[in-house]
Amino acid sequence: MPEEQQLEQQKNYKYVVEYDRTNCIGAEMCAFVDPENFKMNEDGKADLVHGKEKEGNQFFLFTNDNMEDMGNPLRRAADSCPAGVIRITEISTGRRVAGAPERK
Ligand code: SF4
Repeated sequence: MPEEQQLEQQKNYKYVVEYDRTNCIGAEMCAFVDPENFKMNEDGKADLVHGKEKEGNQFFLFTNDNMEDMGNPLRRAADSCPAGVIRITEISTGRRVAGAPERK
């Protein structure tokens, strides 16, 4: 998706979920706690089902679901991923809500 289009779309959402599929180790926790959003693929890594690919194997998903709720399945997936490859950020503030810290 072109960057301007992505920024335009982003304005309508509260959170962005980012998934670094390259570094997924196939631990399956995400698919276990949130089978609606994560499914295991034949290659042993998880797919972010409704995600869009930003660039090679980096996926994102905008959402207005309440990610402050520790019981939210998507948030639980981010919190439980042992590889730390799922990150949820509040768009308006850039605050990391759950999951992996920004990679340096
Ligand atoms: S929990 Fe993390 S490492 Fe495990 S399959 Fe899901 S994304 Fe990959």
